[in-house]
Amino acid sequence: MEKLIITVAPTGSLPTKKMTPHVPITPEEIIDTGIRCEEAGASILHIHARNPVDESASTDYALFREIYEGLREKTHMILQISTGGRAGMAYEQRCERLRLKPEMASLTTGSVNFPDSVYENSPALIEALASDMSRLGIKPEMEIFDVSMISNALGLVDKGLAEPPLHFDFVMGLRGAIPASIENLVLLKNTIPPDATWTVAGIGPAQLTMGVHAILMGGHVRVGLEDNIYYRRGELATNEGLVERVVRLSRELGREVADADEARKILNLRNQDTG
Ligand code: ZN
Repeated sequence: MEKLIITVAPTGSLPTKKMTPHVPITPEEIIDTGIRCEEAGASILHIHARNPVDESASTDYALFREIYEGLREKTHMILQISTGGRAGMAYEQRCERLRLKPEMASLTTGSVNFPDSVYENSPALIEALASDMSRLGIKPEMEIFDVSMISNALGLVDKGLAEPPLHFDFVMGLRGAIPASIENLVLLKNTIPPDATWTVAGIGPAQLTMGVHAILMGGHVRVGLEDNIYYRRGELATNEGLVERVVRLSRELGREVADADEARKILNLRNQDTG
């Protein structure tokens, strides 16, 4: 079986220091976490920026640049910038960071009701972000919160806004999105094109269970405090601790873990950033 690609999503837009002291918030903390997670076996780092003062999700280009450049200098990982945004954030606020020309960026191909807000991604916004990524040679990771979002992603290929083979991330177990079950994971896997690659981001306790299924099914795994702050019930996790656990599980199950260059090949990245 293909080697396993481990993505770490260390920060996200929700967990705060009050919820867990292990969540990296400042650029310096995020960069240090990246170094530790690369050592542990992660080959992709999914980047969000936070306002260092109040920890709120930030769209500040300067912050994204500081994080991106620091990680580029100090690690060899594939850097994947999130284009996610809270309700009401305009396209302009979500696309500016793509100017950094990362190797990858996330692209959510539909809207979803989060527990207390709408995560709004209109067809026009999705197409505008996809078109930017295509022009800049950035590989989108299609963030799939429900089965219907797969057809939206395939529609981008029909419109010439995305190029196969596509790469998908199945976000499972978030209230308001597809529940985390093995039946649903099989359904999602069977709905994407056979040449596509996929990873799974289980939310909360589903991070471990969905991750194990993905290892066995030939998919890839995303872990990190963005999706889950616990190692097990009542015990807070560190990002590198979550990565280390997936490495151990994968090896025990007979699957080797890909380094960043192997991941670049598996994902057919165009902007291969070897600097
Ligand atoms: Zn994210």
